[in-house]
Amino acid sequence: MELDTTLTDYKSLRDNNLHRLLNLIRLNAPVSRPDLATASGLSPATVLALTNELSKRGLIIEKGTANAPRGRRPTLLALDPAGSYAIGLMIRECETVGSIINLHGSIIASLHWNLNLAEQSEHTIDCIAELVEELISQNEATCKHIIGVGCAVSGYIDSQNGICVDSWQLGWHNFALGPLLSERLHMPVLVSNNVSCISCYENLFGRGQTYQNFLTIALGRGLGLGIVLNGEIYSGSTGGAGEFGHTVAVVDGRRCECGHRGCLEEYVAHRGLIATYSELLRAGGFSQAEPTLEQLLQSPPDDQMASLTFRKAGRLFGAGLASIVNLFNPECIIITGEGIEYGERFFDPALQMLHEQAFSRLASSLQVILEPWSGYESWTRGAGALVLSHLLFTPVR
Ligand SMILES: [Zn+2]
Repeated sequence: MELDTTLTDYKSLRDNNLHRLLNLIRLNAPVSRPDLATASGLSPATVLALTNELSKRGLIIEKGTANAPRGRRPTLLALDPAGSYAIGLMIRECETVGSIINLHGSIIASLHWNLNLAEQSEHTIDCIAELVEELISQNEATCKHIIGVGCAVSGYIDSQNGICVDSWQLGWHNFALGPLLSERLHMPVLVSNNVSCISCYENLFGRGQTYQNFLTIALGRGLGLGIVLNGEIYSGSTGGAGEFGHTVAVVDGRRCECGHRGCLEEYVAHRGLIATYSELLRAGGFSQAEPTLEQLLQSPPDDQMASLTFRKAGRLFGAGLASIVNLFNPECIIITGEGIEYGERFFDPALQMLHEQAFSRLASSLQVILEPWSGYESWTRGAGALVLSHLLFTPVR
């Protein structure tokens, strides 16, 4: 298997026009060279030279010919899905999943490992590196030319420098995951917040492709937000933008794992719903043991305590949505994550609250998409898309 050992090859590839053409081919395939020249504003001769270069690098293929009224029919070009691959990792405290994705953003292979990585050490880096090597060796025959590894990690990530600043779930603080893993694997390693990774996928390959300004929300064990503004991921000045789950929903409310009180996540993520359900049951004189998430999710529609739990949480979530709509004025919000299972008892009051509380007409043309959750694959293909986005498809400005 051919592995690029440094970023140098791809930095040279990161020539603005090559990236522009690669993106145009991704978005418009199959597309002819004359159409690429029109769309890019580049001369036909430049387009010919650059597309030949992309072809030589194995990133694009010829895909038939276009109809032409007279003369020679122009050849149509498309991405070669097998031209390059990226590895995406979902890293959690007790499980890590790795997937290989192709240039169409499709998962080719995945491996699931159960191991405890909640330790900030060289041993953790070695474990992750061994997992990546195992995934590569099992797919060596089919997946040639892997360009890098993306890591989806919860919490505050300085993705510019590959540093996990604070991940409370993993217990990692100022952990230089990207540089250490890159040195160990001898290939580029990018690290980003897990919801930003999902945004990357939605932006490149998913429902976000048709929008310039959209938000992605992942609700489940936690509550995160990915932001795409003017077609690009927005991470804030130091990479910490999007901590929707840690905005204050209840002043002096429940203690959050981040150390503060009243964070929205403590009311709408899994543990928040269980806490509310438990409080309501106790207040209603039901002295049963701590309820589980499964009991809540599987409760019958006439379970009034469960319905009230979802309604209270849904209204807080909807109020939070109204706030971010007021802040970002997005065209679309994609909501996904395990929390999609909460169902209409949660989402009906949430969307009602959103429309009641959004400023003026900001929510009137807003699209809200409840995206079915694909489990761990949503995280890993997002982490893979992070690599493709940064190393292949992002034009240099
Ligand atoms: Zn918090």
